[in-house]
Amino acid sequence: MLNAFNLEGKIALITGCNTGLGQGMALGLAQAGCDIIGVNRAGPGDTAEQVAAQGRRFWSIQADLTQPAIVPQVVEQAIRLAGRLDILINNAGIIRRADALTFSEQDWDAVMNINSKSVFFLSQQVARQFIAQGNGGKIINIASMLSFQGGIRVPSYTASKSAVLGLTRLMANEWAPYGINVNAIAPGYMATNNTTALRNDAARQQEILSRIPAGRWGQPEDMMGPVVFLASRASDYVNGYTLAVDGGWLAR
Ligand code: NAP
Repeated sequence: MLNAFNLEGKIALITGCNTGLGQGMALGLAQAGCDIIGVNRAGPGDTAEQVAAQGRRFWSIQADLTQPAIVPQVVEQAIRLAGRLDILINNAGIIRRADALTFSEQDWDAVMNINSKSVFFLSQQVARQFIAQGNGGKIINIASMLSFQGGIRVPSYTASKSAVLGLTRLMANEWAPYGINVNAIAPGYMATNNTTALRNDAARQQEILSRIPAGRWGQPEDMMGPVVFLASRASDYVNGYTLAVDGGWLAR
C-alpha cells in the first residue's frame, strides 16, 4: 500500500518555494521521490540545496506571478527544463491587512492577481500540458481558513481564498475525465512570514493559540503528509476537495 504514496520519477512545479509552506511542501515531495521545479520571484533560497540533499533534481524559474501574462512562459520553460510535468502546487500568495472601510483598490488587485487569477491561469496552462501528455496529473491549490470563514481586516485575501475553494471544485469537475485530480489544502494558522504580524501582536497571538485544539501553531512540516497524499496515486479518487490542515481550528 505504501507504494501508492511513492512519487519517484514525478516532476512537481511549485510556486513560491523559497520559504514557509512552499519550502516545506517542496521538501516533503522531494522526500517522497519527486524532482522539483521552483517558481520564485527572486531566487529559490536554500530550497535548491535542501532538495539536492535528498538526491532529487531542482530547477529554478524566476517569475513574478502578479502578472498572469507570464504564465505561458513559465510552463514552456518548465517543459524545456524537465521535459514533462506531473504535479502543480499553487502555493505563492500574499496578504494585505487594512480595515474594510478604507481598503484600497491597489491592495485588492495585488492580492487577487496572485492568489486567484494566476492560480487559475497557471492551472489552465498546466492542465493543457497534462492533457497533451495523456496520463493525467495532480493540481493542489493552497486555500486558507478564510476559504471557510470571513476573517477580519483582510477583504481581498478572504475573497481570493474563497475563490480558490470554488475554483478547485470547478477545475476538478471539468478535468476529472482527463485523469486530472484538482484538490486544495487549507492551512490553519502556520508560523511563516505570512503570519508574522499576527504572531508579533501578543494579544492576537494568544487569542489564536487558545482556540487551536492541537495547542500550537502549524509548521511547514505539517504540510508534508497531506501534500504527498494529494500528489500521489493514493488520492486518485479524491476530486475537488479542500482538506483543512489546521490543528482542529475549523472543528471548534
Ligand atoms: P510566505 O512565507 O509569505 O510565502 C509566500 C510565498 O509566495 C513566498 O515564496 C513568496 O515569495 C511567494 N510569492 C509572493 N508573491 C509572489 C509573486 N508575485 N510571484 C511569485 N511568488 C510570490 O507565506 P506562507 O505562509 O508560506 O504562504 C504560502 C501559501 O499558504 C500562501 O498562498 C498563503 O496565503 C497560504 N496560507 C498561509 C497560512 C499561514 O498561516 N501561514 C495560512 C493559510 C494559507 P517571496 O519570498 O519572494 O515573497
